Amino acid sequence: MLSRRVTKIKPSPTLAIDAKAKAMKASGEDVINFGVGEPDFDTPEHIKEAAVRALKDGFTKYTAVGGIDPLKDAIIKKLEEDNGLAYKREEIIVSCGAKHSLYNIAQALYGPGDEVIIPAPYWVSYPDQVVMNDATPVIVETDESNSFMITPDHLVNNVSDKTKALILNYPSNPTGLAYDMKTLQKIAEIAVKHKFIIVSDEIYEKLTYDGIKHTSIASLGREIQSRTLVVNGLSKSHAMTGWRIGYTAGPAEIVKAMTKIQSQSTSNPNSIAQIAAREALTGPQEFLTHMIDQFDSRRKFLVNELNSIDGIHCTMPKGAFYVFPNTSLLYGKTYGGKQISSSSDLALYLLEEAKVALVPGDAFGNDNHVRISYATGLDDIKRGIGRIKAALSKRDSSEQ
Ligand code: PMP
Ligand code: GLU
Repeated sequence: MLSRRVTKIKPSPTLAIDAKAKAMKASGEDVINFGVGEPDFDTPEHIKEAAVRALKDGFTKYTAVGGIDPLKDAIIKKLEEDNGLAYKREEIIVSCGAKHSLYNIAQALYGPGDEVIIPAPYWVSYPDQVVMNDATPVIVETDESNSFMITPDHLVNNVSDKTKALILNYPSNPTGLAYDMKTLQKIAEIAVKHKFIIVSDEIYEKLTYDGIKHTSIASLGREIQSRTLVVNGLSKSHAMTGWRIGYTAGPAEIVKAMTKIQSQSTSNPNSIAQIAAREALTGPQEFLTHMIDQFDSRRKFLVNELNSIDGIHCTMPKGAFYVFPNTSLLYGKTYGGKQISSSSDLALYLLEEAKVALVPGDAFGNDNHVRISYATGLDDIKRGIGRIKAALSKRDSSEQ
């Protein structure tokens, strides 16, 4: 009965774990949710006020499919000031979240016979969005010792005459990696030489630590800009996950195709959220410093604590709000009578035994790790880590 397309994909694992943790909470269980990547901060007041004004002004009708001009202009200004990138209105499309931007890109670009290179660990939705369009994801594994960056050699080895695009995400979900300039330059040269598109998912751009500043690969020259789709949104930078605003900047021809697809699917993104997004981009940005400070101290605390657990090794992420500890030394061991053989086993054990929700690494294409989101308050992080330690101290004595 169902289409072939839907039988080839799985539901988003991150959203599935979040739903499970929330359901357990709703039924009275004291679950600590390290599952979903969603800032625990509230949307800043001035953004909410802009939305209330929009409602009161009756800004409640359909808008232009690809977003209102004042919001596109705010995005153009942001891209110019923050990223040194110049765009025109016809090179911008606003969609219902960055996930929707990526989905529109997939619909507009990928088809049977196309290959899309995705470095692993990857964000959960990339491969499925490729598969949904009958194209082939080419998963390229990266190495922890190289901070999970795809190397230029590795990239070249996976390019073929079918390569349509490379999906690049930094700061990365789930690893927190940030690319260095030299590697970015080499990747850009390869894309230009082999004529493929770069889908640059920059949603964690604002969340970097230790003085690292984000550089968009599109800013490395006119040629690479002309074959890059910059994807960004307000969910992470402005704590606006529920508002559903994301955007893409790129070649007018592709943006036009994406707008056509959007006109036949969702129509415009929510009118009130568009006004709020414009305020988010043009209004005060001070709260961001506070949010980054909080994330930074949680990051350091978590990495230290995780490294103090026997069998867990965790590198320090440079951006986003996830840690991605290597838990593979725990596999093959038995805890509380349960044999742990994979990241899924470990996640399930921790959910059942410790009431801590986290995402198994296999959802991101690397079973040796689990992902812990620190977009949750420090008190909960402390309680959660305490519970993880207690659960992992229940190792069967016969194995000690
Ligand atoms: N890209 C990455 C890497 C993400 O982690 C997320 C998570 N939400 C998104 C895109 C989509 O964000 P949204 O649809 O909320 O804008
Ligand atoms: N991107 C977030 C995450 O990885 C939100 C969940 C989702 O959109 O899949 O947890």
